[in-house]
Amino acid sequence: MSANISGKVVVVTGASSGLGEATARHLAAQGARLVLAARRVDRLEALVAEITAAGGQAIAVRTDVTVKADADAMIAAAVQAFGRVDVLVNNAGYMAIAPMSARLTDEWDKMIDINIKGLLYGVAAALPVFEAQGSGQFINISSIAGRKVFSPGGTVYSGTKFAVHAISEGLRHEVGSKVRVTVISPGGANTELKHGSSDADSLKALDAFYEIAIGPDAIARAVAYAVEQPADVDVSEIAVRPTAQDF
Ligand code: NDP
Repeated sequence: MSANISGKVVVVTGASSGLGEATARHLAAQGARLVLAARRVDRLEALVAEITAAGGQAIAVRTDVTVKADADAMIAAAVQAFGRVDVLVNNAGYMAIAPMSARLTDEWDKMIDINIKGLLYGVAAALPVFEAQGSGQFINISSIAGRKVFSPGGTVYSGTKFAVHAISEGLRHEVGSKVRVTVISPGGANTELKHGSSDADSLKALDAFYEIAIGPDAIARAVAYAVEQPADVDVSEIAVRPTAQDF
């Protein structure tokens, strides 16, 4: 249990796998009350059952972050269940690595819709609640590829993650007197993310890149660090990568 995490209401998008799932599990163990959001509701419900069996509190809300009404309903469900929202972890994401010349424009659209618009809809849904409370925290999951262009292959993905940095910085500047804004940049972590592209050669190259990947719990601990700081401390940025990662 962590005194500054216990009792906090934390909404995690993309909680059905990978970093979101690990973050939800870790924060629940520290006493947070969890709202788990994603499209695969069976996986969310399994995690709710696991958290409640361990004595924690969690609910599942089927959410497609690219649908604005879903993001609004996710935050409304959190308020209805727990009376407030302390943290929104904007974690849902999609990565489709491929060279620009492959022109996989449907996958470009999907990355833009999930990684940028999905995050913005989360911000739009939670911000009025945070402003009314006079407190709140956005934790936006970017990437090392949001600090350096992951090329060849990751150009559009990097574009979406650079956007996460820009939006987070502007948001902190605009609402930061009461609302904390944290951007976390993971390096290679072992999740389902690497399977997103339809380009066979890129998938093969990624498999090699991910041989040194770290466990998703490493990112969960970084999220917990940002959440557990006192209200007047805004951990604005964290980068966490495998020791052996040269990118
Ligand atoms: P996963 O593929 O394991 O998880 C992605 C999650 O996002 C799933 O829970 C998925 O749930 C959810 N998601 C995808 N699309 C939507 C949508 N439209 N609406 C709601 N939820 C959605 O990958 P990770 O855990 O690795 O990814 C989490 C975040 O971390 C992403 O933002 C990613 O870019 C970032 N990241 C990951 C790194 C890594 O190496 N793993 C490195 C750097 C950053 P569902 O399909 O059930 O909706």
